Amino acid sequence: MGELTIGAFARASRLSPKALRLYDELGLLAPARVDGTTGYRYYVEAQLPRARLVAWLRRVGMPLARIGEVCDLYETDPPAAGLVIGAYWARVETETAARRDLVTFLVDQLSGNPAGKGVEQMSEMRMRYAAGTDRGLVRPVNQDTAYAGSRLLAVADGFGADGARASGAAVDALVALEESVRGADVLNGLADAVDRVNRANREGSSGDSGDSGDSGTTLTAMLWTGSRLALVHVGDTRAYLLRGGEVSRITHDHTLVQSMIDAGSLTAEEATSHPRRALLLRALDGSADHARPDLRLHDVVPGDRYLLCSDGLFTVVGPDDIRRVLATAVDPADAVSELIALALAAGGPDNVACAVADAVTV
Ligand code: MN
Repeated sequence: MGELTIGAFARASRLSPKALRLYDELGLLAPARVDGTTGYRYYVEAQLPRARLVAWLRRVGMPLARIGEVCDLYETDPPAAGLVIGAYWARVETETAARRDLVTFLVDQLSGNPAGKGVEQMSEMRMRYAAGTDRGLVRPVNQDTAYAGSRLLAVADGFGADGARASGAAVDALVALEESVRGADVLNGLADAVDRVNRANREGSSGDSGDSGDSGTTLTAMLWTGSRLALVHVGDTRAYLLRGGEVSRITHDHTLVQSMIDAGSLTAEEATSHPRRALLLRALDGSADHARPDLRLHDVVPGDRYLLCSDGLFTVVGPDDIRRVLATAVDPADAVSELIALALAAGGPDNVACAVADAVTV
């Protein structure tokens, strides 16, 4: 098969010569040959599929470095390239949803409508709440922390030699915000508090003789703004919502197995028995790159029931049991004690922490 000039290849690939020169400069699609004298680029027909793939991925908006990875994978394993594209898009949609919530919040704040839509209904809502934690039946100490107050719901799961202090300090930092922070400052306040907690963990670990070097904590918390819940989340503690009889999870685990599920290489079923299912990709462990929390705003509807819990609950109490307790418990305190009792009945292999809040109209 003969060589094609850049013009002929451009027509065949429905790309412009300018785009082809750009792809070459970016290292995404090198010509088959560059004439040493004239500098003209020549292509072969076998390069057409890759050229078209680059064009489609650019239209999708994929970053150039990622396009290069997908195209290289495509040469040897097209289905794997498909999985990477799917995982990329799932992440874009998650991030877009979080940004949409943030934009709504900022627009409301700047337009002088801090409560957003449904202001009359929202202003009549308040939270009923309860929290509890238990050492479980196996672990020597309890490193989980749970808190519930009129504006704040929080759970943290500490790990390492200094884990109990780390989880307690994370929740304390948010309790300090509960009375002080208002309106538009909520997300900034949460982000700053998490950053301070993380830096304290770094200082704590470097000051000791190494025995607390791997200590840190997860954190999942919701701060009630009066109209919405500001959600901060890092690690594998979780937030669930019971609304209309259905339970949905509103946090995304920062774990290796969750990233494998997102990439399509593991099913949720397989994840429950994966040997590295507890491996955290993000936590407040003092390192800057592990500590990035998810921050978002969540609209509340009267009748909503929220559960925050540590992995000591959901790894041993199945989704059907969690749903049943949330749907039937009369008040938050009953829900907390029933869920902890279920975790203990299942062997209590880990510390367990639960916090439950109901959004009720006054
Ligand atoms: Mn745990």
